[in-house]
Amino acid sequence: MSSHYDVLGVSPEATGEEIKKAYRKLARKLHPDVNPGEDVAEQFKAVTHAYEVLSDPQKRRVYDATGNENGTDNGSGAYSGQGFAFQDIFDTFFGGGGGHGHGGPASRVRRGQDALISVRIDLKDAVFGVNKKLEVDTAVVCPTCDGSCCRPGTQPERCDICGGSGQVQRAVRSILGQVLTTAPCGSCEGFGTVIKDPCNECSGQGRIRSRRSLTIKVPAGVATGTRIQLSGQGEAGPAGGPAGDLYVEIRVNNDSVFVREGDDLHATLSVPMTAAALGTEVQLETFDGEQDIDVKAGTQSGEIITLRGLGVTHLRGYGRGDLKVHLHVETPTKLDPAQEDLLQQLAKLRGEQFTEGKLVASGGMFAKLRDKLGNL
Ligand code: ZN
Repeated sequence: MSSHYDVLGVSPEATGEEIKKAYRKLARKLHPDVNPGEDVAEQFKAVTHAYEVLSDPQKRRVYDATGNENGTDNGSGAYSGQGFAFQDIFDTFFGGGGGHGHGGPASRVRRGQDALISVRIDLKDAVFGVNKKLEVDTAVVCPTCDGSCCRPGTQPERCDICGGSGQVQRAVRSILGQVLTTAPCGSCEGFGTVIKDPCNECSGQGRIRSRRSLTIKVPAGVATGTRIQLSGQGEAGPAGGPAGDLYVEIRVNNDSVFVREGDDLHATLSVPMTAAALGTEVQLETFDGEQDIDVKAGTQSGEIITLRGLGVTHLRGYGRGDLKVHLHVETPTKLDPAQEDLLQQLAKLRGEQFTEGKLVASGGMFAKLRDKLGNL
């Protein structure tokens, strides 16, 4: 088994300061938060235990004389049993803060928050996609101090209270005796430095609010609620920290003609009764231009004509939905005497029977009703 001196990589004549320095260097390298792994953890324990012994003059004397410490060595030695655990040592050096790992003063620089804006587009733009210009209002890095928070030409100065560590130590009494704890320095808020001469433009925040315009590519197939993520276009962080992401939420305006259902579009086309009976072609203005709709002779109200591939582009994958044209047969509401006469003649020719001006319901008409209602 190698000696505690070997473990720390110092000579048996090393001064307390040299031992401290050696431990500090190793602990930085081997601390479990920095360097996870079982081997490293064991090494860290050994190094810490060696330091525990050699940093205590009395224990070191015992160790030098006998080769072990008090004969109570339990091998791993993570804890000495006297409330002097490696986490405490680590905190003493690096300003702990319980699990934050790297310790030391806190950084002013942090990542900014995500931002969310919404944008309205027309249904046609959702079908084909569109480039949309937006006005975005977010924090940006302060152009005057470049995020340093200091008036140009000045720098943050080391905090006198904590000496730059960002942490202050307090001795606290506990049932285990007196324990040293660390807390963020109140003078520098844990940053280790103070800004005595803050930048005027950003009041020492390192960022300012700014309005800018941005052109985004809205892909075909988006719907209301679709969010487009633009990384790094959100709020700039404090002290010139990287910006969060910008989310653009899509709202699709209602269209006067077309209604979307999934990736299909639906439209209602009114066809006069006579045209529906005789058959005709109707020109329909779609998002893809004019389309000829073939209304067959004898078309019934409620029939659907499907125009394949004229719907909304699929957001994921290829192709488009369909355009479904719902036909509505229009019955005339106002007839002049000549039209009425013609229709009477037509009814007679079709064998529609009237008694005293009332249509006699035939068995065929009942059958139709039964079909509509199902098996009643
Ligand atoms: Zn500034």
